[in-house]
Amino acid sequence: MKIVRWAAALPAALVALAVLQPVSHAESAKPPKKVTTVVSLTFDDGDVTHAATARMLEKRGMRGTFYVNTDTIGRDAKLTRRELAAIAKAGHEIGGHTLTHIRLTELTRSEQRTQICDDRRALVAWGYRPTTLAYPFGSVDADAKAVARQCGYDAARRVGGLKDWGCRGCQAGEDPRPRDRYEIRTPGSIRDDTLPRQMRQQVINAEKSGGGLVPLVFHRVCDGCGLYSVSPETLDEFLGWLATRKSHGTVVKTLHDAVGARYRPVPAE
Ligand SMILES: [Zn+2]
Repeated sequence: MKIVRWAAALPAALVALAVLQPVSHAESAKPPKKVTTVVSLTFDDGDVTHAATARMLEKRGMRGTFYVNTDTIGRDAKLTRRELAAIAKAGHEIGGHTLTHIRLTELTRSEQRTQICDDRRALVAWGYRPTTLAYPFGSVDADAKAVARQCGYDAARRVGGLKDWGCRGCQAGEDPRPRDRYEIRTPGSIRDDTLPRQMRQQVINAEKSGGGLVPLVFHRVCDGCGLYSVSPETLDEFLGWLATRKSHGTVVKTLHDAVGARYRPVPAE
């Protein structure tokens, strides 16, 4: 009898609790965390080390975005067409990075068009559906953004603009739907002197400030191979940690998926 009476009284008691302490009730209930932070792992320049990098991500169930220069694919220290195809087949995003990795802000608009549109045309001819672009050196101006749009890209990534160890006053995460889709911001490039702790902090900063999009910019993935590189061990350790952040509402998506990019054909020449 006692139990039945309790059961009858329970809903009323819960309502009273909710009314009295709405905040602590929500905290103590601990529902599964909603996704608030999206990390995009982007790898620039079609480096030969990215074939193994893609497989490293796959082992963690993650997919990345690989920005390549079509004119240098197949050359020394670069991916071959076959390796690039394998990366795409595994579900990673292939994006444009201009034909020859040139600083767009130093070009005329017509030269920018050649670098961006012809590169995208080559990717399409190879069977890809590129929707996002990364500006080489993160170098971008109003003309380059306009040309990126004209060439049919739906979004483009710069380098920098978000909070990192060198940018204290900056926002921690890009807006989930970036206000300027043709100038998506990132923390500074990951370098060989970037500590694993600093990489983790990028994500934690975004989680703590309401989430958003955190595109991370990597180049070569190898040991002691230049300033713009990360060792495979450091990257793998970071990926392992990143996988555990699901409980904090953090997931990994390609930049294409993160911004909901749409494919448009390249305009005729
Ligand atoms: Zn680059």
